[in-house]
Order: sequence, then C-alpha cells, then structure tokens
Amino acid sequence: MATYDFDMGIIGAGSAGLTVAAGSAKFGAKTLLVEKDRMGGDCLHYGCVPSKTLIRTARVRHLMKNAPKFGLPAAALPPVDFREVRESILSVIGAIQKYDSPQRFCDLGVRVDFGIPVFTDEHSILLEGKTVSAKSWIIATGSSPSIPNIEGLAETPFMTNRDIFYLDALPPSLIMIGGGPVSIEMAQAFRRLGSQVTVVQLAGQILEQEDRDMADEVMNALAADGVRFCLNASVVRVGNNSGLREVTIMTKDGVEQALRAEALFVAVGRVANLEDLGLGQIGISYDRKGLKLDTRLRTTCRNIYGAGDVTGSYLFTHAAGYEGGIALSNAILRLPRKVDYRYLPWCTYTDPELAGIGMNETRARQAGIAYSVLSESFQGNDRALADRVPEGRIKLLLDNHGKPIGVQILGAHAGELMAEWTAYFSGGMKLYSLAGAVHPYPTLAEISKRVAGNALSEKIFSDRVKKTLRFFFNLRGRADCGASES
Ligand SMILES: Cc1cc2nc3c(=O)[nH]c(=O)nc-3n(C[C@H](O)[C@H](O)[C@H](O)COP(=O)(O)OP(=O)(O)OC[C@H]3O[C@@H](n4cnc5c(N)ncnc54)[C@H](O)[C@@H]3O)c2cc1C
Repeated sequence: MATYDFDMGIIGAGSAGLTVAAGSAKFGAKTLLVEKDRMGGDCLHYGCVPSKTLIRTARVRHLMKNAPKFGLPAAALPPVDFREVRESILSVIGAIQKYDSPQRFCDLGVRVDFGIPVFTDEHSILLEGKTVSAKSWIIATGSSPSIPNIEGLAETPFMTNRDIFYLDALPPSLIMIGGGPVSIEMAQAFRRLGSQVTVVQLAGQILEQEDRDMADEVMNALAADGVRFCLNASVVRVGNNSGLREVTIMTKDGVEQALRAEALFVAVGRVANLEDLGLGQIGISYDRKGLKLDTRLRTTCRNIYGAGDVTGSYLFTHAAGYEGGIALSNAILRLPRKVDYRYLPWCTYTDPELAGIGMNETRARQAGIAYSVLSESFQGNDRALADRVPEGRIKLLLDNHGKPIGVQILGAHAGELMAEWTAYFSGGMKLYSLAGAVHPYPTLAEISKRVAGNALSEKIFSDRVKKTLRFFFNLRGRADCGASES
C-alpha cells in the first residue's frame, strides 16, 4: 500500500480549511494545512468580520443621529475619523485571529506551512521546493472579487472588499458598482458614517436572489438613509475627471449619464482562487466560478475534494464550514455523505436585515412549486414597537399540503430569528411544536410563533371543528357585542 507524508492535506486556511483542519486532527488524522497568506481567510480579514464590525459602528452613529426618536436630546455628531473606525475593526479581527493562529492549530496537532503549493500529481504538491504528499486533499482556497471588463477601469483607482475596511479617511462620496449583498451592506454603512453613496445596479432590483417585494423594502430603507440608486443601469465606462472618479452609466431607455464621486467600489461577484494550483496538469476540471464537484464534493480526482467558495455554490462562511464537514466525512471516515443545500440559511446584514431559508417565492416559481404565503408584520410585535424597529415582516411559504417550504424575515435581528427556523427545518420539527412553544415576552421571536400559529389556525378553528365542539360541549357561538343596543 502506498504511504504518504500526511493522511490529510488542506490548501487554504480560511473558513472551510480551518474547519477541516481542526476536525481532521481531532479524528486523529496526520494533517497538513497550507496557507499562502494569513490564517483566517477572507471572512476574517476582508469579509464577514470587518463588514459586520463596520455595520455595527455605522448603526451606533445612526442611533446617535436619531436620539430624539428615543426621547433623548440630540447628540453632537462630529465627522467620522475613519482611522479610528479602522482601529476598532482591527481590534475585533485581532480578538478572533487568536483562535485562527498557527499556534492554536499546532496545539491541535496540525502542521501549518506557508507558501503557494502546486499539484504535481493527485497525491503530491510542490511547496517551497519540497514535495509533500497526502492520501486525501481538500482545496479550500476561497474566492476573490470578480473585476468586470469595463472600459477605463484598469486605469482608474477603485476599491474592492480587500481595501474598503482599511481606508485612511472616509470618502466624502462613493459610487458602488453592483447591487448584491456586499455592495448593499457597505452602501448603508458608509452612508450612515457620512458618505454620499450611489449604487449602480444592472438589474431592476437589488439583491437579485431575493423576492422583489422584500428586496424593494431593503432598498427603500437605504433610500430613507439617503442612499441613491440607479437601477437597470449598465456601466459604459469609468475614468478620472478633475480628481474625481467618473462613472458613465446607460439607463434602460438608452440615456447616458455621468456620475462622479471621490471613490469607487466594485462588488459584482466572485471568482474562485484556483489558477495557481496546477489543477489542469492533474486533470481537475474547474472554471471561473469553481471546481467541478460531485454531491460528495469530490473533484474529478476522487481523493481531492473542494469546500468553501471554490465550490461556487453558496458563498457563505457557514456554507464553507458545512461543506468542510461533508468533505472530511467522505475523505477520512469514508462515509458517503452528500451535500444538501435545501435548508441552508442566509442573511444580508442591512438595517433591517433580510434573512431566508428554503424556498422564497422566486425560487418556488422557478421550481414550478405551487405555494401560498402567510405574512406577519413587525407592526404587530410589541418588542419591535418598544425597540422602535417596526419595519419589516415574516413570510412563511407553504406547499399545497400546508407544509412549510421556506421562510424569509425582513426586520431587526432577522439573522438571529432565523435560528429557530433553521432548527425547525433541519430537525424535521412539526409546526405545532413551534406554534405551541412558549416564547418569552416581549421578544421579536414571537413573530415566528405567531406565523406558525396562523398556519395552523385555519385547521384548528375550521367551521367543522367549531360545529363539533358546539355539539359536544353545548357552546353557544358568537356573543352579541351590544353595539346595536347603545
Ligand atoms: C465583504 C464580504 C462580507 C461577507 N460577509 C459574510 C457574512 O456576513 N456571512 C457569511 O456567511 N459570509 C460572508 N461573506 C462570505 C465569506 O467571507 C466567504 O464565503 C468565506 O470566507 C469562504 O470561506 P473559504 O474558506 O472558502 O475562503 P476564505 O475564507 O477566503 O479562505 C481561503 C484561504 O485560502 C488561501 N489561499 C488562496 N489561494 C491559495 C493558494 N494558492 N495556496 C494556499 N492558500 C491559498 C487564502 O489566503 C485564504 O486564507 C462575506 C464576503 C465578503 C467579501
């Protein structure tokens, strides 16, 4: 039997790679983790962590600005010094980085090497001039911002998620190309910090994966903050004009318009980081979006797996962790586990947040699934009113047997509220368990109990049930409210 230096080799120490490395070592596999840059990946340094920290900072400023709404005196709002914001972001990254450090992984029993590996055969890589082999490999090299082919972009300074958290100063004005979650989250945060923000979006709605009604409510919330939107607008060219970035857009009716701002941010999708790995020479198929994988996350070389953004499927940290676990079970435990994305939740961290799981109306229509929708507004939730966050609602999609197939929540803490539905769907719970569970009052989570209760009430309070109760218990029906007597 062939022997290898390691049982498991992992390339990329980000969300997927770190999950796999820790799990692999815990199973007792001799594990190598190879990273070309810093441990922690995009999520820690250029993605989830800095963006959520920035969003929180921007929200605090927004609350200060709105102090009178809470019965407080108006607060002074001096301009933002972005260097201070940057320090605060770095301090949060620093706190998390400790858990992603080479030392911690070394203590877990993982060998961590730095460099750019190149596959020489399906079991071996060349790393810093040395050949290292492993029985199984997991490619977890993540993704990078996709740079669109726009005239003049190469000659015009622009930012991506790699720069925007580390600025020296807040840009007085900012044009964002792209209307996906990354761009929309940053648009609101920078607007709330004091930048004038314009979002240019090719499609007729922002957050294209979402139902139009929910995405429009997010857009209206950002517009209320002062973000300007150009929808159905294609970028014709970009350039510099008197020290400003100039973006020429064409609207749906063919009219050209020039937008100008101090800074330009591009977020129009992602490209998998697969180019430097020598995958072609060992026959692994991939394209710009990601690796060609089967449902067990195996590449066209059966001992090499993919996890995280390189799958090109769901570009989230929690998806990366989930896929890492699937790849690990297949590679180490030889358990033929398959990925199942049906109940993978997601959340866009705007204010209000927009979170979802399972089917939304757009997906159900695309899949040809008949559905009905039950909706409940946060206007009817006492905690939302007390917190002064009455915006938004929950949408529960039911199939034609009345079984839930998806949930979207637009509102404060929607991402947190999704936890209950994640447990519901992944645990195969019954709707009456959710509807019957006692929730603390007053909480935003009561909205989930209420919509679940509404889904059941049609059955529970049907005319047939009422007739039966009347028969058995001699109930006498509706009371006269007395209005006609007064
Ligand atoms: C602005 C922004 C905000 C985001 N917010 C969220 C959020 O709130 N929630 C969420 O779930 N997701 C969020 N994401 C997505 C999330 O960051 C990614 O889905 C996640 O980081 C993917 O994990 P990964 O392990 O595939 O890649 P990464 O975490 O990026 O890790 C890949 C690692 O591989 C290394 N690498 C690359 N090439 C090589 C090579 N050739 N050799 C060796 N090492 C290599 C990289 O240096 C990196 O360390 C956000 C993304 C962005 C851009």
